[in-house]
Amino acid sequence: MPYAITKRCIQCDNCVPQCPTGAIKVMEGDYWIDPNLCNNCQGYVAPQCIVSCPVNSPVPWQAKKGRCKVEARTVPSPDLFPDGKSHPFASAIAIWELCNVLAQRQSLPWETDAAGEVYYQRQINGGKGVIAFRITDTINSESSVALKGEQALSVIETFDIRAACLHLLYAAYVTNLDKPWEEEFIISDRQIEEYLGLDKRKDLGKSTKLSLIKQLAQQPCKFIVCLSLPRQGKIKQVSLEKSRVWHLLDIQHHFQADELGCKHLVGLTFKIKAGQWAKYFLNRQGCKERTAFYQYGTLPKALLSNIMSIWQQHEGAARMMLWLLFKTKMGREQRVTVPTLMRIAYGDRKLNQVALQPERQRLLRVFESDLEILNHYGLKPAFDPVTYPAEIQPLWAKLSDIPEDAEAALEFWTDDGSNNNRLTDAAPRGKWNRLMNARILYFELPHAWESLAKSKKPRSTNRKTNLKSPATLSTEYILEARKKLGLSQRDLAQLTGKSQSWIRDIENGRFQAKLEDQMLLRRVLGMH
Ligand code: SF4
Ligand code: SF4
Repeated sequence: MPYAITKRCIQCDNCVPQCPTGAIKVMEGDYWIDPNLCNNCQGYVAPQCIVSCPVNSPVPWQAKKGRCKVEARTVPSPDLFPDGKSHPFASAIAIWELCNVLAQRQSLPWETDAAGEVYYQRQINGGKGVIAFRITDTINSESSVALKGEQALSVIETFDIRAACLHLLYAAYVTNLDKPWEEEFIISDRQIEEYLGLDKRKDLGKSTKLSLIKQLAQQPCKFIVCLSLPRQGKIKQVSLEKSRVWHLLDIQHHFQADELGCKHLVGLTFKIKAGQWAKYFLNRQGCKERTAFYQYGTLPKALLSNIMSIWQQHEGAARMMLWLLFKTKMGREQRVTVPTLMRIAYGDRKLNQVALQPERQRLLRVFESDLEILNHYGLKPAFDPVTYPAEIQPLWAKLSDIPEDAEAALEFWTDDGSNNNRLTDAAPRGKWNRLMNARILYFELPHAWESLAKSKKPRSTNRKTNLKSPATLSTEYILEARKKLGLSQRDLAQLTGKSQSWIRDIENGRFQAKLEDQMLLRRVLGMH
C-alpha cells in the first residue's frame, strides 16, 4: 500500500532523497507522495519516508472518498469534436512520422550519429527530403538537448503506443489556432479522459487515470525533429534544425486534502505549444499567399477509443489503424501491398527475421487476426481479386460471404462444394510467397472517416470529371450484366474485391453502391 503525507509535515525535506522510487514530490512548497510511484519501499525493512521523518507524518494512503470538487482552474481551450464525431487535425509530415514513431518505437531502426545522439531517420518525397527524430527528456524547457546511447534507448523503451492518441489530439487542437507556432492551447485531464473513453473505465481509479494521462501527455513532447524539404514552387525550402514537435510549457497539478491533510491529486492541466514545423505546414495566411502549406485531415473521435481498447491485444491492428488515418487522406483508392502493411504492423526487423515455415504461419495468423480487428472497426479491406484471391484470403473474410437466409446459405454451400477450392480447404501451398505479392485495393472506411475521403474528392481533378454526373447504376442493370457474362455473385465478389453478401445486397436493392463502387462495377462488368 502506498503512503501519503499528512498536515503534520514540517517540510524538513529529509524524506525526499531517501525515497527509492522518487515518489515524494514538492509542489509549490507542499510535500506530496504520488501513489502510483510509491511501492511501499519494497525490499526495504521499513518505509524510508517514515524512518526519516522527524514528526511521523507519512501514513498509509487511503483512496479519496466522495466526488472530486471542481475548483477554479485554468480554463482549458474549447472542447474538440463539437459534433461528437470528428475534428480537423494537422496532418503534416512531421505529425504523420511522429505518429508512426510513437506507434512503432523499438521496432524502428534507431541509429547513433557521430556525436553519440540516437536518431531515427527516413527519406521523404522520393528521396528529395529527409526527416529525423531524436529524443529528449527535458520536457518543459526551450532547449532541445538530444539524448545519447543507453539513456536514449531506455527512454524509447518507456514510450507507449497510446501516446500517439495524445499526439493526434494536440494536432487537432492546433487547427483551432491562427498562428499555432506562437499560440498555446490548454488541455485538461477531464477533456483527455473523455476523448480517450477513459471516463467509461469504471475499473480504473481516479489516481490511476491521472497517472496514465500524465505519462501519455508528456511522451509526444519528448521528440526533436530535423526536417529538410526542397523548394516546391513559390514555397521555399524547408529546413528545421533540431526543433521540438511539441513544447510542454506547463503541467498544473490540482489537489484536494482529506481530514488528515493528505493531498490527493484530483486534476491536471497541460499547456502546450506547437513547434516551428507549424509555421511551414499549418500556416493559413502563408497558404493563401502560397508561401507555406496548410495541411490537415479529419481525426475521427472513435479512432482514439478504438486504439485505447485494442493496443494491448492487437498492437499490430492499432499501428495499421494509425497509419491508415494518414494514408487514406491521400485518396481512397490507395493500393497497399501485404508486406507494406506487415512492416507497419510488426516492423521491418520482425518481417525480415521470419524465414522458417512455423514462424511465417504464426505471423500470418496474427496478421489475419489484426485485419479482422480492422474489419470489425469498419476498416474493411478490399482484397485485390488478382493478387489476393479468395483461396489465400483470411477465413473470416470468406465466412462473411455466407448468406444469413437459410435457403441462400444452402445454395451457397452447394455452390461452394462444386468448386475446386472449397471455403474450408486448408491454405494452398506457397501461401506466404503469394501474400508477399498480394495487394489490398483500398480500405472501406467507417462513416466518421468517410467525411475525410469525401472532402478529398473535389481536389482530384481526374476523378472530378468522372464523378461529376454519373448515371446511377440500377440493381437490375448490374444483375443483367452479371448474368450476361455468366458470372455468379461469388465470381463478381472476387473480381471486385467485395464480399458476396455486398453484391447480393446491391442486387436486392438493400442499399445503393457508392459512386466509387459504381465505377468499379462498371469497370468489372464492362459497362461504359
Ligand atoms: S513508502 Fe518508500 S516508496 Fe513510498 S513514498 Fe515512502 S519512501 Fe517513497
Ligand atoms: S514528510 Fe516528514 S520527512 Fe518528509 S518533509 Fe515532511 S516532515 Fe520532513
